[in-house]
Amino acid sequence: MSRLDDRGLLIDDTIVAIASPVGRGAIAVVRLSGPRAFSIASRHVRNWQHQPRVAHLSDFFDGEQRLDEVLITAFPAPHSYTGEDVVEISTHGGYVVPSSVVAALMTSGARQATAGEFTRRAVLNGKLDLLQAEAVGDLIDANSRAMQEAALLQLDGRLSRRLSALRAELLELEALIAYEVDFPEEDDGPISRDRVEAATKAVLKSLDSLLATAPAGEMVREGAIVVIAGPPNVGKSSLFNALLGKSRAIVTEIAGTTRDALEAVIDGGRWPLRLVDTAGLRQTTDRIERLGIEVSERYLGVAEVVLACAETSSDLDATVTLIRARTQATIIPLLMKSDLVSHRNQMSALAVSAENGSGLPRLLSQIESAVDEQCGPRVPEIPLLTRTRHKQALELAREEISEFHRVWSGGNVPATIAAVHLRTAITALEELVGTVDVEDILDRVFSSFCVGK
Ligand code: GDP
Repeated sequence: MSRLDDRGLLIDDTIVAIASPVGRGAIAVVRLSGPRAFSIASRHVRNWQHQPRVAHLSDFFDGEQRLDEVLITAFPAPHSYTGEDVVEISTHGGYVVPSSVVAALMTSGARQATAGEFTRRAVLNGKLDLLQAEAVGDLIDANSRAMQEAALLQLDGRLSRRLSALRAELLELEALIAYEVDFPEEDDGPISRDRVEAATKAVLKSLDSLLATAPAGEMVREGAIVVIAGPPNVGKSSLFNALLGKSRAIVTEIAGTTRDALEAVIDGGRWPLRLVDTAGLRQTTDRIERLGIEVSERYLGVAEVVLACAETSSDLDATVTLIRARTQATIIPLLMKSDLVSHRNQMSALAVSAENGSGLPRLLSQIESAVDEQCGPRVPEIPLLTRTRHKQALELAREEISEFHRVWSGGNVPATIAAVHLRTAITALEELVGTVDVEDILDRVFSSFCVGK
């Protein structure tokens, strides 16, 4: 009998797709997955040998016609990405060769895979949990080293393991309560209130430490917005270019030519930085320029860090005041064009030159420290909550556990009712990871307690 997945697609189908991006390149990878993967692939190769996980150099045929010389690797179930029989065929790249190989495999009975279907099957077959499947997407979409690192930790299962540990703590707590439910009359039962209290507090602490990573996770995903602001002609665009290391903004001597905001990402440090070059902040009657200033004000409202730029100390004070009224961000005051004037070393401002690069490394490290302060320093190897979904699930779990704690310590509500909050919290975690196993709680009750004692 045929089985359908959650979207009604046949999971007994053998699916095929080009797994690499379309276009010119040395090689392309065609992936085939499903119960008939080996038999379909074997029709296109003379002397099919499918020694597991060993690459074989073969000619690939469509009938009598040779399509390419390829490398074929067979991954028998369950030791494959999807958990099914998988064949990976490295063909030569380009537009025609990989598509002709896919077309040939489809003639032999494979179906074109839909977007994400290989990973979906990996989840259905228990090879990846939901968090790991998300991490595959995040790794492919990563636009910074920080995101790459966070996604890789998640793919390794670090976040899943932390959540499983948390779930285990909750199941333990639920088991304590279940014991209380079974023996309500025992005044002096073996489960002391202190034990429940301690277990609850420990779970809340674990949850809080995970939730504390959410701001850093969001910053890694979105990048910190760093706005360069100040009056026209002080060297904002030049600074933007100097920080980027290549010329992207149009640099000009005419005041007010940067009409709109320009944005570019600086990567490589602890945080991805979204550097924004804004229009000058001065008052103007020019309509278009004013539009540009509105953009910069909007950016100021969402910025994490604002670089306040001016050429003299008194202008800088005025600029900082103007900016402070428009943003909650950390403001770093900069005295610009330090190659022209030797600014006396000031405690309150950093002297920089776009021309000769002086002060820029210090500026970058000050920006990173400002972001550290806002999200907590990034501890490598610690998994982060990178999606709203993660944060919402954990916040729900936290609320439910707090509610359990409140009701339980009040002592007026039956344990069975209080325990409902724990169940909801556990379900939230299970939905987050994508594993639901109702037998678990029963196993716990009987394994951690010796009821007959
Ligand atoms: P913006 O209007 O604030 O974006 O200023 P620009 O970046 O367009 O620079 C205005 C003028 O100042 C241009 O002629 C730049 O070449 C010059 N300039 C910018 N930064 C520096 C610097 O660090 N040193 C020197 N000597 N000139 C600079």
